[in-house]
Amino acid sequence: MGKQIKNLVGKRFGRLKVINLSDQRNKFGHIMWNCLCDCGNYHTTSRTHLENGTKSCGCLALETRRKIKHGDNRVNKRTRENSKRD
Ligand SMILES: [Zn+2]
Repeated sequence: MGKQIKNLVGKRFGRLKVINLSDQRNKFGHIMWNCLCDCGNYHTTSRTHLENGTKSCGCLALETRRKIKHGDNRVNKRTRENSKRD
């Protein structure tokens, strides 16, 4: 009995959709999967990374960082409650 490879083709992890098995191996010898990100970029990563939270080619992290810089996180603050008390 050989080591079975879990087929991830067609599965979605956040923005990444697994297209097919890559010929590449990472430094640990893990198999790599070719994924297509919603932004149009291709990203090759291992199952371990996909299952541990890799959700985009990297664009998601960039966007999140940009949003925080723009101050969009202020929306979550409840200023109304504070003003009532005053
Ligand atoms: Zn992307």
